Amino acid sequence: MIGKVLIANRGEIAVRIIRACREMGIETVAVYSEADREALHTQLADEAVCIGPAPSAKSYLSMEQIISATVTSGADAVHPGFGFLSENSRFAELCEQCHITFIGPGSDIIRRMGNKQEARNTMTAAGVPVVPGSTDPLTDAEAGAKIAEKIGYPVIVKAALGGGGKGMRVAETPEEFEASFNTAQKEAQMAFGDGTMYLEHYVRHPRHIEFQILADQYGNTIHLGERDCSVQRNHQKMIEEAPSVALSEELRSRMGDAAVRAAKAAGYVNAGTVEFLLEDNGQFYFMEMNTRIQVEHPVTEWVTGIDLVKEQIRIADGRHLSYTQQDVKITGHAIECRINAENPSRNFRPSPGTITDMYLPGGKGVRIDSAIYSGYTVPPYYDSMLAKLIVHAKNRKEAIRKMRSVLGEVIIEGIDTNVDYQYEILNHPDFVSGEVDIEFIEKLCR
Ligand code: ADP
Repeated sequence: MIGKVLIANRGEIAVRIIRACREMGIETVAVYSEADREALHTQLADEAVCIGPAPSAKSYLSMEQIISATVTSGADAVHPGFGFLSENSRFAELCEQCHITFIGPGSDIIRRMGNKQEARNTMTAAGVPVVPGSTDPLTDAEAGAKIAEKIGYPVIVKAALGGGGKGMRVAETPEEFEASFNTAQKEAQMAFGDGTMYLEHYVRHPRHIEFQILADQYGNTIHLGERDCSVQRNHQKMIEEAPSVALSEELRSRMGDAAVRAAKAAGYVNAGTVEFLLEDNGQFYFMEMNTRIQVEHPVTEWVTGIDLVKEQIRIADGRHLSYTQQDVKITGHAIECRINAENPSRNFRPSPGTITDMYLPGGKGVRIDSAIYSGYTVPPYYDSMLAKLIVHAKNRKEAIRKMRSVLGEVIIEGIDTNVDYQYEILNHPDFVSGEVDIEFIEKLCR
């Protein structure tokens, strides 16, 4: 039985996990860098261990420091949150070797789904629709150009070990191919230390639709419906909602079945997300599988009533799923806005610094997951996301109204944030009517 969990993360997700553990009667150990001595997660956990200096490479990404903190604190499990080491198969493997329960899938699953080419091939074999693309690893532009010709332009060149939107370039025409391939490969080499690439047909104006999966160690796999994450800037999500206005019951059931098939084909265990691109005509394609909890998990929690972090812990502890597919009912509509320390009028430049004063609203149907407080200094070393505002209402129209009201009340002084920018999006006629695809923000900025 898991009795003590070390949270290998920081910020709002660390706080979120500490709360779930506390409610389950599980002790918590926070880890923190020297820049996070005053951070909320450091203060809220039962114990806190300093794991090194501010740069994440020396603290939150240091496997040795985190494993040794786990062993010395007597924790029997590690929750990796998202980002940092959450999708690092080597870290999961180290936990396995040290008999520490990794709250997530096994290292072999993380490795297989982390290699996007391998993930594509697994899905194709399982009959899950995949964007037309290459099947073998590519290392040179000349061989790539021949395959691009077969796939059909435009194509997108992607890094096999990619993540965070890095190592990706679109080639509109054969003339552009070589340059796009070489640029993407160079970026991949820099970011992931590996220049293995693959190609996909570039889908025009799709929506980003992802399905939440839960699977236990006994072969029970269910989906918890979809999230629409089409509002993105530079391939990074800004607003997420559940359910999606673009899905009929029939399409939801077909995509949900495909997501469950995808998870089963991967031999998946724990919480995971199957990401799809969805075209106007209802055609959908598998994009990738995320083998961890997602930033946007609260919208699913709200429409299903299921606590995903608690389920993750229960599954890792060897228990059966608490729900069957028939138990999952989608109620109302939830929207999440990510609040970042950044300045939208200066090309979203990060804005670290001290929060001199703040006020966050509450009320019926309002949930705020955050790690900030008045007097807190946002360090410059990490991701700029400060908080997530999540609302739930009877339908999408009321959820939008509620989110506008919440955004209108939020006060964060001393640093710049994207609160006003989010307010503008919530009032944009295309967002209100639900007519958004992944190029929506790009079009706004033009
Ligand atoms: P990462 O893991 O780096 O985030 P993804 O493969 O998830 O990379 O792609 C990130 C985003 O890029 C997607 O959400 C989508 O907006 C866009 N994208 C990826 N592949 C395609 C494609 N074949 N056609 C059109 N857009 C794509």
